[in-house]
Amino acid sequence: MLVNGIIVVLLALYLVWSGMAAGNYTLRVLSIAGIYALLAIGYQFIFGHAGALALSQGTFMGVGAYASGILAVNYGVPFDLALPISVGLPVLLALIVAAPVLRLETHYFALATLIISQVVLLIAIEWISFTGGANGIGGVPPIRIFSVTIPPGWPLLATVWGFVALGALLAWQIARGRLGQAWACVRTAPSAAAAIGLDASRLRLTAFLLSAAYAGFAGSLYVHALRVISPDVLSFPIIVSCLTIVVVGSRLRPVGALLGALLIILLPEWFRDLRDYYLLAYGCILLLVVVIAPAGLLGTLELLAGRLLPASPPPAPSPRPLEPSAVRGVAVKTPEAAAAPVLDVSRLCCSFGGVRAVDDVSLRVMAGEALGLIGPNGSGKTTLVNLVSGFYVPDSGRIALCGEDITGRSSYRIARAGVARTFQTVALVEDMTALDNVSIARDVNRIGLGAALRVGLRDPVQTRAREEAAFLLEQMGAADAMMRPAGSLPYGVRRRVEIARALAVQPTLMLLDEPAAGLNETEQSDLAQRLRALLKQGTALLVIEHNMSFLAPLVDRMACLDAGRLIAEGTPQHVKSDARVLEAYLGTASELVPA
Ligand code: ADP
Ligand code: MG
Repeated sequence: MLVNGIIVVLLALYLVWSGMAAGNYTLRVLSIAGIYALLAIGYQFIFGHAGALALSQGTFMGVGAYASGILAVNYGVPFDLALPISVGLPVLLALIVAAPVLRLETHYFALATLIISQVVLLIAIEWISFTGGANGIGGVPPIRIFSVTIPPGWPLLATVWGFVALGALLAWQIARGRLGQAWACVRTAPSAAAAIGLDASRLRLTAFLLSAAYAGFAGSLYVHALRVISPDVLSFPIIVSCLTIVVVGSRLRPVGALLGALLIILLPEWFRDLRDYYLLAYGCILLLVVVIAPAGLLGTLELLAGRLLPASPPPAPSPRPLEPSAVRGVAVKTPEAAAAPVLDVSRLCCSFGGVRAVDDVSLRVMAGEALGLIGPNGSGKTTLVNLVSGFYVPDSGRIALCGEDITGRSSYRIARAGVARTFQTVALVEDMTALDNVSIARDVNRIGLGAALRVGLRDPVQTRAREEAAFLLEQMGAADAMMRPAGSLPYGVRRRVEIARALAVQPTLMLLDEPAAGLNETEQSDLAQRLRALLKQGTALLVIEHNMSFLAPLVDRMACLDAGRLIAEGTPQHVKSDARVLEAYLGTASELVPA
């Protein structure tokens, strides 16, 4: 915060000083730098926050520029009145591009955005009667706002940087709260995000549309500042500059984008005397920044400031017990539903290539019951949990939750319906505090752009979610770790944070994948005790575990998988002494820790 403030003040002083002292050429260059800053602040949403490599940011800027320029030259529409179209059109284009590809892997997304860039460039060059073709269109009027024309020189500089300040503030407001944390989840721990009910596609779409809106706005400023429309604005170097600004400045912070934009636009000016060697020097400096400051200039400055002036962590919130959640989709609505098993899996099959990972498995878990799932490594236990929680789609069979068929539903919707899970390998957002790793799982259906824009300096939803998270962490015996980044915590504590996060979903069914792995005996019995308390509240539990001394006293029933098939089911005593179970474990007997 302090570093950001200092940089903003220094930048403002620099701009004011230049505005008074510099010639028209420098003023123009600084205005262009401001426009790039806006473009890059927008790009931070999709590239930084959502973590998707979009190569269309320059195209959105170009579409905004063409829209505003053509409206001004051909129809006499001024800058401000054209904004709904010059911002709306790139947003619409983003929506069309995103619809089919946001769900896909990020390299498909990169490719799709690259293709759309080429298509738009081709249209701009070929549709000569409308766009002026390769020559473009001249005679674009200057910016006009509320009938006031902004002349070139310092008024243009002040106007552009005024918009930059507004754009940066808006971007900060959007990302500083729960929406920003949700993006961090989707970006750095996508499976965890799905497991707590975050809709990754929608979050990514929000980021992409915001990027396009900023780009469209930057484009219309650009065309009125340059006073010509030309296909150059659609060319590849724009996206390269934009990427460079964000990587050099900061991927997430608006202030970093300002810093990066000024640097990238001014460097060529500073090195102009080098003539032919300029590109070499420019390249070396960029490379140096990327190598020395991988977190970007701003991130590195913040890191240094943090070392020099370590800030005391904010006070931990006071714990507040959870009230019944409003998130639940499958409520126990009717007496029949109340009597139905919480989880009813029938004849489930799932293959990978030739491997039948889960083969005709049927299981039931009732409310308040714990089912232990055992089986040698590779027997399909994790796959079963992945199927129930919607991470995999079964080839055949049916999964019902409280009597409602949830087969084939996406994982985030199953989480919202009341299924929480943990992972065999702990999945937490490393940079976020343990507290926020848990608090983000509360009220996920209230996370969105609208909510982010509405909150004041303090967000009551977040305050409450944090108090509830504090309560859950305390219940799991991880209260001391609350304010520390999850990445800095010891393994056992991370496991407990993950279980606390699963509890934040207020699950009717909880799926735990080897929760005792890596815990010492005291920690194990502590965990078992906490899980038993949970069962008393009526939660259904499915626990995968090899460790019999942990599992046998905890669960009511046990089931054993072998090569995807259910080979035994019954009381722990019965399953442990079953001949087929012993045989299945024979080759790997060391895994079955005896009671
Ligand atoms: P367990 O959890 O019981 O150790 P898993 O459910 O992880 O076993 O794996 C069961 C089988 O399914 C293994 O042979 C594994 O290689 C295979 N498998 C699991 N997930 C995948 C996947 N995403 N792609 C291909 N094979 C998989
Ligand atoms: Mg497993």
